[in-house]
Amino acid sequence: MTMTSNSFDTLNLIPQLRKAIAEEGYETPTPIQTRAIPVVLDGKDLFGIAQTGTGKTAAFALPILQRLSIEGGHERGRRAIKTLICTPTRELAVQIHESFTTYGRHTGIRSTVVYGGVSQLAQTEALKRGVDVLIATPGRLLDLMGQGFIKLDNISIFVLDEADRMLDMGFVHDIRKIIAKLPEKRQSLLFSATMPPDIVSLASAFLNAPVRVEVTPQATPVEVIAQSVYFVEKNDKRHLLAHILKDEAVLSALVFTRTKHGADRVVKDLLRAGITAQAIHGNKSQNARQRALNDFKSGHTRVLIATDIAARGIDIDELSHVINFDIPEVAETYVHRIGRTGRAGLSGIALTFCDVDERAYLRDIHKLLGHALPVVEEHPFRSTVPLTNMEPRREERRPERRPERRPERRPERKPEHKPRNEHHQKPQHEPKKEQRPEPKPEPKSDPKPDPKPASTPERRRDDRRPKPHGPRPKDDRPFGKQKRDGLPRVG
Ligand code: AMP
Repeated sequence: MTMTSNSFDTLNLIPQLRKAIAEEGYETPTPIQTRAIPVVLDGKDLFGIAQTGTGKTAAFALPILQRLSIEGGHERGRRAIKTLICTPTRELAVQIHESFTTYGRHTGIRSTVVYGGVSQLAQTEALKRGVDVLIATPGRLLDLMGQGFIKLDNISIFVLDEADRMLDMGFVHDIRKIIAKLPEKRQSLLFSATMPPDIVSLASAFLNAPVRVEVTPQATPVEVIAQSVYFVEKNDKRHLLAHILKDEAVLSALVFTRTKHGADRVVKDLLRAGITAQAIHGNKSQNARQRALNDFKSGHTRVLIATDIAARGIDIDELSHVINFDIPEVAETYVHRIGRTGRAGLSGIALTFCDVDERAYLRDIHKLLGHALPVVEEHPFRSTVPLTNMEPRREERRPERRPERRPERRPERKPEHKPRNEHHQKPQHEPKKEQRPEPKPEPKSDPKPDPKPASTPERRRDDRRPKPHGPRPKDDRPFGKQKRDGLPRVG
């Protein structure tokens, strides 16, 4: 991660925290840390525009731990919760809790984490013992508040983390309910990767004269990642994946599939090929997800299969390969996916499998990157379908951003919904009658295919496909965020 030239010495942190961060090997603060820590130590409200990967957890955890240590009171009697951190996902909650435990290990400040999807017993036991800092996902928090296990009367610092994702995930009412229970007199911090109007209005509703701190993401330029594309038939993808993973040079691989079922199928196919892999997605129990993640982080599992939503917020430092088993339907997601590798000055490799139906998505990625990805010609599963006649069947596509909880369907596998021969007899780009209406501006020029050799990534101009999310973003934000600026970068 890129650091500023400041050292932690200038931030007036107490020795207990300095010791912990030195033990972590942190030498210099990241930009969000340099700018946010003094504000939080000062007791001011903060509106932080920063995303995971910028070091934002330490940016709030360190000054909070310091304030709680200095204010004291945690040694006497049963502790009341003094700091509440609300975050949208279980994975983020666990990561934040780990950070508090790590940075606070010499302070005596006690923290715990509550999230849904698991039994509440261990969580309520920890709460009964008393904690200073509570990290929580909104649903379980409200649940435990309702049962009387959590009281927010003594909260002096409240952090709303990943606020834009909270709203995306439909937590707005929960958040408002939680805020309504907080004491009026408190310090509030809000972190969001983007600043759409609903975040601005949420911020103005509960922040008091906040200091605004905005950092450009800690970005890995896409250029440092060696990227390439494999043209392959859909059914050969699993063989190609096994073929690639048999190479021991692939030290660790995060493999992205479009669906949860797809992730499970890949795990099974790999097992059949003698390769151990684990999947992480919303259908798994929280414990299974955490176990898979821990195994992967610790190097016990070499291959982790994930959907985009499940992979959100997961930060793995030494990842050698990102493999796009399925091409993302939104080009920016490609940039975010591949940014999981090439971290911390390490080189990274991103491999993308592209079947016939995915070629239009590849074209979008090329447009976003400003160049075509190099094609891997030498592999045993090369697609024989020429790059002409490769219009995508838009009607078979599902929207990119669906709530993870919904059961996943693969319409193309259901002949009762799609007469099999229709598929083959009609030109692929011809819309079917039952197709949902889509904006379909006619191309201004040259709709004819450009006869290219099969191995050349397509360069044919084709503006018929509507942009999934308006104008192209130019910088890095979490998956699918739409309001952006800056150049394509990953982080
Ligand atoms: P975060 O944005 O909080 O998820 O942090 C991203 C990663 O950066 C985590 O793995 C942290 O351990 C690491 N990190 C945070 N601050 C620093 C720092 N000052 N120096 C080195 N690594 C850091």
